[in-house]
Amino acid sequence: MAVTEPAPAPPSTHEGILLRQSLRESAARTYARALPIVPVRAKGLTIEGADGRRYLDCLSGAGTLALGHNHPVVLEAIRKVVDSGAPLHVLDLATPVKDAFTTELYATLPPAFADDARIQFCGPAGTDAVEAALKLVRTATGRRGLLAFTGAYHGMTAGALDASGGATDVRVTRLPFPQDYRCPFGVGGERGAELGARWTENLLDDPKSGVPAPAGMILEPVQGEGGVFPAPDTWLRRMRRITADRAIPLIADEVQTGVGRTGTFWAVEQSGIVPDVMVLSKAIGGSLPLAVIVYRSELDAWQPGAHAGTFRGNQLAMAAGAATLAFVRTQGLAARAATLGARMLGQLRALAAAHPVVGDVRGRGLMLGVELVDPFAEPADPPIPPPAPQLASAVRQECLDRGLIVELGGRHSAVVRLLPPLTLTDEQAAAVLDRFADALAAAERSTRPKR
Ligand code: PMP
Repeated sequence: MAVTEPAPAPPSTHEGILLRQSLRESAARTYARALPIVPVRAKGLTIEGADGRRYLDCLSGAGTLALGHNHPVVLEAIRKVVDSGAPLHVLDLATPVKDAFTTELYATLPPAFADDARIQFCGPAGTDAVEAALKLVRTATGRRGLLAFTGAYHGMTAGALDASGGATDVRVTRLPFPQDYRCPFGVGGERGAELGARWTENLLDDPKSGVPAPAGMILEPVQGEGGVFPAPDTWLRRMRRITADRAIPLIADEVQTGVGRTGTFWAVEQSGIVPDVMVLSKAIGGSLPLAVIVYRSELDAWQPGAHAGTFRGNQLAMAAGAATLAFVRTQGLAARAATLGARMLGQLRALAAAHPVVGDVRGRGLMLGVELVDPFAEPADPPIPPPAPQLASAVRQECLDRGLIVELGGRHSAVVRLLPPLTLTDEQAAAVLDRFADALAAAERSTRPKR
């Protein structure tokens, strides 16, 4: 006789949703693994989970939320479109919303660039805009090869992956991105950057280098996923000169560095360089998906339909994005990111001085990174301790336990990354750093080798 089992108690919303996610979603899911949170409400820096817990969100949708969650100007812009009766799907047709977005975006670009720029609306992810940029310069130059950098991250589609640091594609020539702490030349600073630039020049000018004239060079002004490495301004200017002198289009991937994040509206402004192509996504959609490339009109040699896609007309994203761009511009949030970021960098460095597990603290504006290392490892040559990814994930977990969301990055996932919204107040910054300091101390205690 069949025994009727009592129905299992329904799992709580929080646990049930997480359980169902783990049973149904792909093994390739990412953030969800380290952050078992079920967000149900969010405002500014704060996310509230289905379990009632509150978190300070310093991941900000992987650097997307310049104004934090659900900023009033963003919500108002979205509501206005919804209430207006405007169509939500329009392919790449002209609309008043798109026109206003483009006008606002052009107002933020370096004038020397905006005056002679074309814009291509891409599929809604940064990686699609990277593909478009590569296609654009390949068509315009008639060449195939690409110059890209160690540690780069440009996305997850094939061309963008090729250009990223993990790739093995031979059409991409890999050049050293300047880094002080683990300088490939062992010297760091301006000298390390100078040696990298000389290597680049040499490859391009040596007829037997095995590097044919490339279609373009793609770089991030501050590498984000690669571990938070700001490129020195002199090096960026040198890359601009090297590429300009050899008629190689320079593509600045500002997907993560744009919209005030690094202390100027666009990160390239700090070095004063004007690239040939800018790849823009994340914050330009004001939390909704939007990606474009903007480029010198001379490169506009591709054919109609050369980079098509159904979802290139997200009206809500354009409205939210235009409102975000205007707010960052009129409220001076880039300058605020510069000041607050410099202060937080100083405070993190002071904290590092008391913690030998912190190997390096770096960043620009509100794009900050703390590299964790194993200070007990055998000294290497040069004597830089090895990265400590396990400790980094312990820090991330301790942060989460204290209601602080951070992410890891870097070659070995040993860099704790802080990407708070540009609207962060002084009090919130202090709360973030307090929780981080506590979490660091706890993780250090729990992983310290017993002697
Ligand atoms: N370029 C850079 C510099 C990025 O940081 C990212 C995403 N982290 C991308 C491109 C890819 O953007 P998406 O994830 O929207 O495809």
